[in-house]
Amino acid sequence: MNIAIYPGSFDPVTNGHLDIIRRSAKIFDKLIVAVSVNSQKKPIFSIDERIEMVKKVTSDIENVEVKAFTAGLLVDFAVEEKAKSLIKGLRAVSDFEYEFQMALINKKLKPSVETFFMMASEEYSYLSSSIVKEVGSLGGDLTGFVPEEIIDDIKTKLASK
Ligand code: ADP
Repeated sequence: MNIAIYPGSFDPVTNGHLDIIRRSAKIFDKLIVAVSVNSQKKPIFSIDERIEMVKKVTSDIENVEVKAFTAGLLVDFAVEEKAKSLIKGLRAVSDFEYEFQMALINKKLKPSVETFFMMASEEYSYLSSSIVKEVGSLGGDLTGFVPEEIIDDIKTKLASK
């Protein structure tokens, strides 16, 4: 079975993430969305809330699993999950430098794990979790930015901040 991991913080999951998930799930037998703790970012949603949201919006995709990735190296997590591939979404040139470095270091750490880059679809290339939070906190309509099913969860969270 050809298994891939799509890692990220998904704080919250956006239509850009979902687009990468749907496209990758068509190519790999199984896609594991690895929701990470990421100490460098300060998420507004807890890891359990982020996992629940990703589960909610991917429930119709049979070969997608959502898991917490909380400690250690991503490549070790991949090996544990018997995944040979990592999927990264690329929006703009600005994503490239960091992702390129990560792909090379991951290759050094575990040569058996490959990184695949998927270009963001044009209609979502401007989307990020942070811009969604900014628009939402200023009272903007989130329709089209995130899946409908989680708009209320996001509004409730932002209102409590
Ligand atoms: P963000 O960068 O929005 O905070 P994450 O850390 O959760 O999001 O990103 C997880 C992965 O999804 C990364 O590989 C990132 O490049 C990719 N990604 C994020 N937003 C988009 C988008 N709009 N289109 C395609 N890929 C995206």
